[in-house]
Parts: sequence; structure tokens; C-alpha cells
Amino acid sequence: MNILLFGPPGAGKGTQSSTLVEQLQMHHISTGDLFRNAIKNQTALGKEAQGYMDKGELVPDSTVIGMVEETLKEISGSGFILDGFPRTVVQAEALEEMLEERGINLDKAIFLHVPEELLVSRLSGRRVCKGCGAVYHIESHPSKTEGVCDACGSEVVQREDDKGEVIQRRLQAYEESTSPLKEYYTRLGKFVEVDGVGAAEEVFNRLKTTIH
Ligand code: AMP
Repeated sequence: MNILLFGPPGAGKGTQSSTLVEQLQMHHISTGDLFRNAIKNQTALGKEAQGYMDKGELVPDSTVIGMVEETLKEISGSGFILDGFPRTVVQAEALEEMLEERGINLDKAIFLHVPEELLVSRLSGRRVCKGCGAVYHIESHPSKTEGVCDACGSEVVQREDDKGEVIQRRLQAYEESTSPLKEYYTRLGKFVEVDGVGAAEEVFNRLKTTIH
């Protein structure tokens, strides 16, 4: 099974993908994580992406598509979950082409629906571990010791792009560029909507029902 999880920032794509990957032994392709790693390692790709990410803008299509193409070459065997890619119709068309060349089919494009007011509180309260990437929330899921990861003991911080007006720009980029994917995947007969409101486990159970 090859699936795409998409939705606005804060919909829970990262959290849900990580659990799906763990439980169903799938490959996880998160373009946001790939960019954050490239920034950490100070590669040319990271330097290019950082300016866009810090402002809450999308990285140009050609850069993202090239990066995903490289990643897909490394994938074999079990299915994959695309998390955060595609984010534009141009990227979605490129993905269809890349998969077709490899004889792979994208089975479902799952849209996680969460109302905007909830997105803002999820994003502004989100904290992430600098070491292992574990995700916390200051109210709904705080780490046991403030600023310290329960899993690996590394520092837990707020992402630069989870601050103030950058959140608004990311939501705007989603509305303008990513929400047209709903129509795109409906036309391909792959669109499925899942309610993303509620505890992570509840949403996960809904997703599992959809996937099986
Ligand atoms: P995420 O972790 O998925 O929220 O992504 C964080 C940031 O990385 C986004 O706000 C964009 O700046 C950039 N990014 C991630 N995936 C893409 C993509 N498919 N297209 C363009 N920019 C992306």
C-alpha cells in the first residue's frame, strides 16, 4: 500500500505517519524532515531551503521534486507514506510521472481535516526534540521535564516556523497551493477524507480503518 497523507500544517501528518510507519512497516518520506536534516548538515540543499522555510513559504517545486526523485530511488520492498509531499498540483503531477516510470501506484491520497482555529493552537504549542524528532505539545502532551525529551534526553524546542506570523504564512501557503490537491486527487479517484480532530490514537484508528 502506497499512500499520501496531506492537509494543512498542524493537521497531524507527521505524528500519524510516524505511528503508521512503526505499526505497518512502511517507508516514511517526509519532505519537511528531509529539509530539516539538510539544514542540520548544512548541505547546499539545506541552505537553499532554509530561507523559504523560515518565512513559512514553500520551497520551489523543482528543488522538492528533485529531492523526492532521489529518495524514491532508495526505496524498495514495502509500501510508503508520503508526508508533506506533494504540496502543489505541479508536484502531484511530477509524482504521478515518477511513480509511473517505476511501475508504482499511489493507492490513496488521505486528507486530514482539522478546523483552522485548532491548527493554530496545535502549531503554536508544538515542541519538538532536537535529537530524535519526538513531538510534544505544551498542553495536550508535554514532556515530563520541561525542555527535555522523554525518549532520548535531548533538548525540546519550538520550531522557528511554529512561531507567530510564520504560522499564518504557512496556513496561507496551504490554502493557495495545497488545498487544490483535494480536487486533483478526487479526479484521480484516490481522495479520502479523514477527521483529524481528537486524540492521536483516535485519529490513528480512523486512518487504519481507511487503509485496510
Ligand atoms: P513540514 O514539516 O511538512 O510542515 O514542512 C516544513 C516546511 O518545509 C514547509 O513549510 C515548507 O517550507 C517546506 N516544505 C516541506 N515539504 C514541502 C513541499 N512538498 N513543497 C514545498 N515546500 C515544502
